[in-house]
Amino acid sequence: MTIDLHMHSTASDGELAPAALMQFAAGLGVTTIALTDHDTAAGVAEARAAAQGLGMQFYSGIEVSCQWGKRCIHVVGLGIDEENAALAAAVEHFAQQRARRARDIADKLMALGCPDLCERAVEIAPNKAVISRNHFAQALIEAGVVKNQQEAFDRFLGDNAPAFVMAPWPELTAAVDLIRGAGGVAVLAHPGRYSFKKDWMLDALVEEFVKAGGRALEVVSGSQPAEFTPRCLDWARKYDLAVSVGSDFHSRKGIRPLPGQAGPMPEGMTPVTALLP
Ligand code: AMP
Ligand code: MN
Ligand code: MN
Ligand code: MN
Repeated sequence: MTIDLHMHSTASDGELAPAALMQFAAGLGVTTIALTDHDTAAGVAEARAAAQGLGMQFYSGIEVSCQWGKRCIHVVGLGIDEENAALAAAVEHFAQQRARRARDIADKLMALGCPDLCERAVEIAPNKAVISRNHFAQALIEAGVVKNQQEAFDRFLGDNAPAFVMAPWPELTAAVDLIRGAGGVAVLAHPGRYSFKKDWMLDALVEEFVKAGGRALEVVSGSQPAEFTPRCLDWARKYDLAVSVGSDFHSRKGIRPLPGQAGPMPEGMTPVTALLP
């Protein structure tokens, strides 16, 4: 059994359409899968039909952007009802914030000497409701400003880079509420990717997530080093949390592992799938 509960399609900033992504993952031997696009469940219905047709166990999902203090945190919601009304309203709100942020990012880039890339980034984005920094990275590459995605994030778009724009995402607790309200289980995405000046802040984040109603952690993720897993497992034991595994796959030429290749579900822990119907 190969499990992967975190990946992106063209419904957000991934390369493959939902059905093509399911096909690709099945070809790599993935048997249990979830689609978790940024701030939208628009790809879920297509992915579910494809995954079930391929004989995979499928879970609906979303990766909700939120903030905790000054940090942008990601909470994955698994098993959500993708037609939930509050979720749909939130998705609409995210779309507006992302469109507004796109203009602000483009302005910052222009102040740094880049051409106006707002229109092009929107054109590149397959789902106009999710204009992502990845689409700006592609526009920067296309315009010949940078050589690759890494350079785009290092020089311009990364969380500590000069064209970064903090969007008014919901608070961590509101993101967890949104997921739970839509019938889903809240999973803290890639805890090892958040950089805090003080290391104890990360422990505080996990504690707040649990207090807010979060029930699982990504203990194995394509977006965090493998060496981080033991610390995640310690938290899972301390707070009696379930555990999840995800590649965070975006594209075939990307920097992250392919679907199903982030690593196995650790033994002796409660897999998040045990909490899902
Ligand atoms: P957004 O949700 O639009 O702010 O964009 C976040 C996305 O940008 C993430 O999901 C990643 O796909 C990508 N990203 C963020 N930081 C980096 C980075 N340092 N290197 C490469 N990609 C990144
Ligand atoms: Mn992404
Ligand atoms: Mn993420
Ligand atoms: Mn992700």
